[in-house]
Amino acid sequence: MNLKRENMKIDFKKPNGLIPVITQEYGTNEILMLGHMNNEALDLTIETKIVHYFSRSKNKIWKKEENNRDIQKLIDLKVNSNLDTILVVVEQITNNICNTDKKSYFSRSYLDKKNENKKIIIQSKSANLPTKYGKFNVKAYKDGCQEHLAIMSKDFCDIDIPLVRVHSECLTGDSVGSLKCDCNSQLDLALQLISKEGGLVIYHRQEGRNIGLVNKINAYNLQDQGYNTIDANLKLGFKDDERNYDAIGFIFKDLNLNKIKLITNNPKKIKFVENCNIQIVERIPSITKTNQYNKNYLQTKKKHMGHLL
Ligand SMILES: [Zn+2]
Repeated sequence: MNLKRENMKIDFKKPNGLIPVITQEYGTNEILMLGHMNNEALDLTIETKIVHYFSRSKNKIWKKEENNRDIQKLIDLKVNSNLDTILVVVEQITNNICNTDKKSYFSRSYLDKKNENKKIIIQSKSANLPTKYGKFNVKAYKDGCQEHLAIMSKDFCDIDIPLVRVHSECLTGDSVGSLKCDCNSQLDLALQLISKEGGLVIYHRQEGRNIGLVNKINAYNLQDQGYNTIDANLKLGFKDDERNYDAIGFIFKDLNLNKIKLITNNPKKIKFVENCNIQIVERIPSITKTNQYNKNYLQTKKKHMGHLL
């Protein structure tokens, strides 16, 4: 995702009260995001991931650590702005670093569009993973700071039409056994199915429909006060679903998928797979037991997100 300086024609017409921001991952020289942030969002992100940031007009560097040579390379960026530009150097970038509950207008969309074809995804080698479900092969993919895992049955490569599930990360469900959602049961079911019939589960690490864990727990706090899963996200300044499936498309290609049986209830995932020119020979519903805690959540997903439940 390296941008050459001479190619940078950035329109930094900024909305009121917002500061143009360039974000760079510490030590990589890669510009990761361009956009706008408000002061509150800047302050908030400093607390967590910012190493240091640089104000162009003030020629001043605020830093958590001593400045290094990487920052110098970007100081002279000729961005199209008479106003200030902030260069944020972060330890680790996420898709939603700036989507705090203080609301900001920072987005990755500029780079996403410009660099669609240049997307750099780092791949691991494959390895054996014996599990309580059976023996699998696993392969990991790193897309920015999001790392995903492909879990394959041993016979995956020999199957013409494998079962496939794209499972969205849910730490509280998958690891803690939360009953507020159906994630744990769905993952359990998918792993059982691919172990028995052969296939692939992609563990897609976009926690909380890609708002991150902190925001998700804040959404849970709102849910404790009576908001449903969608309204809570909206109240925090997010869309009902912030997930994107770009990395999944990459993994599909890497694993040579053509025809699959897709395990899902989510119409968006069906559409995405079809857009990847992969034929869905059959949709396998991922229906699990409801309980008193996830009843409303599942109702909301059915009613407002069109899930096939
Ligand atoms: Zn969940």
